[in-house]
Amino acid sequence: MINKGTGWDIEKVRRDFPILREQVYGKPLTYLDNAATTQKPQIVIDTLTQYYAKENANIHRGIFCLSEQATKRYKSARHKVQGFLHAASDQEIIFVRGTTEAINLVAHCYGKTFLKPGDEVLIPHMEHHSNIVPWQILAEQNGIKLKVAPINDQGELMMEEFVKLLTDRVKFVSVVHVSNALGTVNSVKEIVRLAHAKGIPVLVDGAQAVAHTSVDVQDLGCDFYAFSGHKLLGPTGVGVLYGRKELLEKMPPYQGGGDMIRSVSFEKTVYNDLPYKFEAGTPHIAGVIGLGAAIDYISGIGLDRIEVHEQELLKYGTKKLLEVPGLRIIGTAKQKSAILSFVLGEAHAHDIGTILDRQGIAIRAGHHCAMPVMQRFKVPATTRASLAFYNTVEEIDRMVAALHEVTEVFQ
Ligand code: PLP
Repeated sequence: MINKGTGWDIEKVRRDFPILREQVYGKPLTYLDNAATTQKPQIVIDTLTQYYAKENANIHRGIFCLSEQATKRYKSARHKVQGFLHAASDQEIIFVRGTTEAINLVAHCYGKTFLKPGDEVLIPHMEHHSNIVPWQILAEQNGIKLKVAPINDQGELMMEEFVKLLTDRVKFVSVVHVSNALGTVNSVKEIVRLAHAKGIPVLVDGAQAVAHTSVDVQDLGCDFYAFSGHKLLGPTGVGVLYGRKELLEKMPPYQGGGDMIRSVSFEKTVYNDLPYKFEAGTPHIAGVIGLGAAIDYISGIGLDRIEVHEQELLKYGTKKLLEVPGLRIIGTAKQKSAILSFVLGEAHAHDIGTILDRQGIAIRAGHHCAMPVMQRFKVPATTRASLAFYNTVEEIDRMVAALHEVTEVFQ
């Protein structure tokens, strides 16, 4: 059926994802854990198979046909990422293992070099552990201080408090674009504007944003932007760190090894140009090429249409969930992505997850690697449905019907 808002046929879109035809316990798979990882379209699976079956060779090294071809495809994927993020140059695109590695790279290379004992790094209270712990490690090793900006009961960053905390001692701001635990969309452009007015660089964790809204790093003005391929229909083990060239050039390398050098002798090693300076060793070539295929695919679908569809699902899902007796949604920001985190009466999130699983419904139960968010809302865990553009109203109905059954079990 053609959706009026998006103009596409959802059933046709779903046919691109072979896993969505699978059954679990004899029930159709209802996959609602897209914030953890997204499913892969056939074209990404085929690209990986094709690479390993017919094109496998190391890059930047061989003078033979296959290696040159692999190098070309690897380079072309970098160019695709540049276009996808609207970066000024493909030298600003560093391939890493994922968002976690990207943030660790910045904490390590930028933090250890440019932050001094007593300097502060400011983050909002809604961060994923991967945007907390690297800064805590830096605090332990380099004596910097981690400062946390509070969030309100809706799960929104309290901007007035954030501004108050943005003192002269703050030398770095690191902020999530979209919260994986709450769905909150942060006003990243405004945060960057405020920080830059004081000369403070900003890293944006885009793990939950890139598959749901279009990102323009130049428009946002951020200095670093991190995301993971597997949350963008691509393979696991590959991700991207965008960094402004001027900063990347000043930063020392992350790891030493092959490819990141121009020349090596025991007396002196000269590092390679960007982006290779940050890509030591053989990278995840197949993953990078697969990520390129994922970007082509999602760009073909269109992030504008994806946003329309997901916002419709969010509105519908919110209304339906609130009809379940005793259900409370955690994360009710005005600007919200299609993430529905909730608690249900006395039922534990893991019990809810298990009951839904028996019906083929995959949702997440736990702290979502955001324990401080759970502490803020005084809950041990939440149940979370996180939606993607291939999800349907029928799938939400299936989840909600199962939740009504949960309430009967726990009455
Ligand atoms: N940041 C956010 C907001 C996330 O949701 C996640 C993963 O769930 C990460 C960072 C870490 O991503 P990865 O495990 O792919 O490195």
